[in-house]
Amino acid sequence: MKTVTTVKDLRAFLRPLRDRRIGLVPTMGYLHEGHVSLIRKAREECDVVVLSVFVNPLQFGPGEDYERYPRDLERDAKIAEQAGVDFLFAPSVEEMYPQTPLTKVTVSRLTDRLCGASRPGHFDGVATVVTKLFHIVEPDRAYFGMKDAQQVAVVEQMVRDLHFPVTVVPCPTVREKDGLAVSSRNVYLSEEERKQATVLSAGLREVAEKVKRGEMTRASQAIEYLKRRISSKPLARIDYVDVLAYPELTPVEELKGRRVIVAVAVRFGSTRLIDNTILDEKEETPCSAR
Ligand code: AMP
Repeated sequence: MKTVTTVKDLRAFLRPLRDRRIGLVPTMGYLHEGHVSLIRKAREECDVVVLSVFVNPLQFGPGEDYERYPRDLERDAKIAEQAGVDFLFAPSVEEMYPQTPLTKVTVSRLTDRLCGASRPGHFDGVATVVTKLFHIVEPDRAYFGMKDAQQVAVVEQMVRDLHFPVTVVPCPTVREKDGLAVSSRNVYLSEEERKQATVLSAGLREVAEKVKRGEMTRASQAIEYLKRRISSKPLARIDYVDVLAYPELTPVEELKGRRVIVAVAVRFGSTRLIDNTILDEKEETPCSAR
């Protein structure tokens, strides 16, 4: 594995490899099993795997955790190499933003709800940095986790709208044994917060089961159920609970015959956790494992 910190060097390394299939896994580092699952998928499907590690200041709002976001490039390099990465691209902020950018990429409508409503400007930051990474790496395939399902919808829309010659590959959410979605931010949680945080995945799983059994047929019932279930944990403060058509992210009420996302964002102290499940009532079984 080669660690590369400049755009120029990465382009030079990739130039002779352009006839191979190049896979990109964009991350903010502090790698965990979720990231590793994306790398493994890229390794299976591609000849060359590029992992980017960049904590993108553009996608953090004022007062968010940009400064304290966990960083450990040495540890990331070991994990990346073991997982089969060929190029670890770890640019500095100055390398990615040598001057104050006057250009940004905005995906409208999909970004005015869920995390987009709670974090104004967040998805502009995401769409802009993903665009830059797509131009720098020119990957054939790019791997994103369904843990951030709205991000997948936004990036897929952007790729279609702007004719990026890349296939977006959504990958299932990796979870801890007790169901908590693996996240770099989980390290912020106190022991008690960590225990109570299992309510997100447990609640989502219960909703998926109820819908599957036909006991829950409407979005409002799922929202009510989750709000009550999550509020039963004293340390949990709900940011949002919502059910929307996926990937359109439009409002729905009747769940039957639809593909929907049930999405939650909950604060435990200063830590904001998100999780979701996709219910596909178009198919025989809900894709709750996604
Ligand atoms: P991040 O470093 O948090 O920006 O995440 C980088 C990529 O890894 C994104 O596409 C995430 O959706 C994905 N990811 C993060 N956590 C998980 C997880 N638990 N399971 C699968 N993918 C994940």
